[in-house]
Amino acid sequence: HSGFIAIIGRPNVGKSTFMNYVIGQKVAIMSDKPQTTRNKIQGVLTTDTYQLIFIDTPGIHKPKHRLGDFMVKSSIDTLNEVDAIMFMVNAKEGYGKGDEFIIEKLKGISQPVLLVINKIDEVHPDELLPLIDQYREKLPFAEVVPISALQGNNVDRLLEVLVDQL
Ligand code: GDP
Ligand code: MG
Repeated sequence: HSGFIAIIGRPNVGKSTFMNYVIGQKVAIMSDKPQTTRNKIQGVLTTDTYQLIFIDTPGIHKPKHRLGDFMVKSSIDTLNEVDAIMFMVNAKEGYGKGDEFIIEKLKGISQPVLLVINKIDEVHPDELLPLIDQYREKLPFAEVVPISALQGNNVDRLLEVLVDQL
């Protein structure tokens, strides 16, 4: 079992934190500033039974200039080539404009998309179901997995779900 997983989501949802948690080293630059992750940095998780190659695709947001337009296109090319896509959102902030832009792009892609709701350590469990329903109305997801990338909650489950997509 081996495959490529793209991670997308608006800035600060926790993509780099997740990468660092599963890979166990600083593979992506972490910062509170948006868009500090400039490249598709790949982290590889190898176990006895599977290998997951993660790709950080930071370029999917509404472009303000032609370079941004190029970055969006290049990220979408990547999404078309992977085995599964992790669409990460922020449980605390909820559905927003940045999510809407990404969801529009995901509508044209046939790869399985997993909705990963991150930062569950920051919300009450009762808030999760309405949030999940709100996202599900916009796009059919192969799976929905709530996690805390910072604390590592439910990350094992997410990895199982990812391996199931290979
Ligand atoms: P990225 O822009 O999507 O790569 O987001 P980062 O990984 O850089 O994270 C942005 C901020 O959110 C950082 O301050 C992280 O420590 C914080 N963060 C990431 N994951 C979690 C989480 O599960 N819970 C909480 N409370 N904070 C998180
Ligand atoms: Mg990042």
